[in-house]
Amino acid sequence: MATTADHLRTTLDGQWREVREKVRVDLTREEFAPHFTPDLQAARATALEQMRILAESGYAANGFAAAHGGTGDVGAAVTSIEMLAMSDLSLMVKAGVQWGLFGGAIENLGTARHHAAYVKPLIDLDLLGCFAMTETGHGSDVQALETTATYDPATQEFVIDSPTPSSRKDYIGGAAQHARMAAVFAQLITAAPGEEATSRGVHCFVVPIRGEDGADLPGVTTSDCGHKGGLPGVDNGRIVFDQVRVPRENLLNKYADVAEDGTYSSPIENPNRRFFTMVGTLIRGRVTVGGAAGAAARVALSIATRYALQRRQFDKPKSDDEVLVMDYLVHQRRLLPLIAKSYALHFAQNQLVTRLHDIQTADEVDPQEQRELEARAAGLKAANTWHATRAIQECREACGGAGYLTENRLVALKADTDVFTTFEGDNHVLTQLVAKELLTSYADEVRGMSPVDWMRFAATTVSDVVKKRTAAQQIIQTILDTRQDNEEDGSLFNRGTQLNMFEDREEYLLSTAARRLQAAQKREDDPFDAFNSVQDHVLRAAEAHIDRVVLEAFVAGIDSCEDETAADLLGDLCDLYALTVIEDDKAWFMEHRHLSVERAKAVTRGVNERCRTLRPHALTLIEGFAVPESTLGVAMLGG
Ligand SMILES: Cc1cc2nc3c(=O)[nH]c(=O)nc-3n(C[C@H](O)[C@H](O)[C@H](O)COP(=O)(O)OP(=O)(O)OC[C@H]3O[C@@H](n4cnc5c(N)ncnc54)[C@H](O)[C@@H]3O)c2cc1C
Repeated sequence: MATTADHLRTTLDGQWREVREKVRVDLTREEFAPHFTPDLQAARATALEQMRILAESGYAANGFAAAHGGTGDVGAAVTSIEMLAMSDLSLMVKAGVQWGLFGGAIENLGTARHHAAYVKPLIDLDLLGCFAMTETGHGSDVQALETTATYDPATQEFVIDSPTPSSRKDYIGGAAQHARMAAVFAQLITAAPGEEATSRGVHCFVVPIRGEDGADLPGVTTSDCGHKGGLPGVDNGRIVFDQVRVPRENLLNKYADVAEDGTYSSPIENPNRRFFTMVGTLIRGRVTVGGAAGAAARVALSIATRYALQRRQFDKPKSDDEVLVMDYLVHQRRLLPLIAKSYALHFAQNQLVTRLHDIQTADEVDPQEQRELEARAAGLKAANTWHATRAIQECREACGGAGYLTENRLVALKADTDVFTTFEGDNHVLTQLVAKELLTSYADEVRGMSPVDWMRFAATTVSDVVKKRTAAQQIIQTILDTRQDNEEDGSLFNRGTQLNMFEDREEYLLSTAARRLQAAQKREDDPFDAFNSVQDHVLRAAEAHIDRVVLEAFVAGIDSCEDETAADLLGDLCDLYALTVIEDDKAWFMEHRHLSVERAKAVTRGVNERCRTLRPHALTLIEGFAVPESTLGVAMLGG
């Protein structure tokens, strides 16, 4: 008979539960047992060997269209890479670079000739690639990249060049050692006959960088980033191009092309919109990184909670036993809210993957839906990766000295996930992107604007901030309507009350941000100063929005649970998530008179109360994560 933990697992696993099950089984193979070595060569060789095993068992095909040699199951592709994080984050990142980023650029920015030439070999790992976007001078501001790709009509080639020291490609996964080819982002410079050559903005080119012997090709100089804060199995490196020539056909030309005579053409006229359309198609990497961070947090919480359920410290009066660490209220307060948040984010991530799959497998894409997806992916990437960083550190401390030993996995999880807050988009920059979508009510013109420009746009056009409901629309509305019928029920454990508090905070922050923007716009001469004077407020509004989206996803997740006992448990966990968010932002709620002093105290009591109710179910809750036993076999747990 299915246990409560089984029901939790089924509910959390969501639409791609079969994919998750398959990866869980595969991870029991000896080759995927968690391992750690500071020896970069050994770690890199292991990651590559593991990838070969995955390639043989058909892992990569899901991410590519059937017509190109794949199976076209986008959701399955993202889910399986996310699950790899439970075994080893170097493997997850290296697989993500090869199939998600390099493969994703070819698949989404290329056309038939690129698909025919590269997709099958890159799925099978006969072609190892890297994704060379970031430069030493520019990471977050991709439009300002300096690498040039100048078209030479005489030879019908592009000349790829790094004109300045700051145009060196930097941190590129695979560039130090294994990649033979790079998807290089560069300013495309060309001229139609009789015209002067001009830059057409950033485009992507396929550029061979190493020969079969592993040596750099002429004009290419690669170097190794060496030891990093984590991810020893990923060979991050740098690339400098000195007038490297590639055929005209190496431009990934789905959104723009250059004719033999140098004439530039694109179906998207506006250069900004073109750029954002191109990078928008690469969203999958961001979704995967957020999901993998969530998976790593679940591994850490599974380890730390199991440890807390066996570790004893200090005598209990009138008892022969020492106290189980998990029985201390403070320990419950440290771990259980993080478990609750992991559930919340997992449900939100599942919704995101479903939307990604639906949009990327649809025949036609509605631009507004695409932009909403991009904003949601940005927000959840930030939320998941920040959560992982905080949760894993707490788990490390919760395991005391044992938590600091490499054999117990937590330090590697911490080191490896640290950079997840930075790559695939720095979290603060991504949060700003969420705000942009919210404040401008998804206006199409905003897509390609710089932060200063869109702030000006928002200041002049925002009147009513549009509140967009999540997929849980109906369920949430029913909860809110029921609450309105019974208004005196303002209990903090009432879901309608919680939803209202989240919504009110978001609406207030958004509308006041819009008003401040308008005022700043009138007051300041310098548009940058106007923008900068409200930046913190705008980011808080975006964070409040993400919190609301995550809470609504939790509510929908509970609704999808088919077992009553498991659903009740999820209900208590959802209370804990909601009350913890309110408690963490208590000062704001009180400052803005959304919470009286008495109710603020009640929030703290509510968190304690839910910690107590959930304590007996701690093991069940982490069993619901279904982290494979083989990846939990750490020494301190007797593994
Ligand atoms: C291990 C690793 C692997 C990587 N792999 C790849 C890869 O395979 N391919 C690739 O192309 N890139 C890769 N990167 C690069 C990564 O994507 C960039 O580091 C990232 O985009 C951030 O850019 P940056 O380092 O230039 O930081 P910056 O953009 O310089 O950011 C520095 C700080 O400034 C803040 N900041 C920036 N802009 C604003 C703003 N408008 N408002 C407020 N604050 C701001 C940020 O929040 C951040 O804290 C990798 C990086 C690492 C570390």
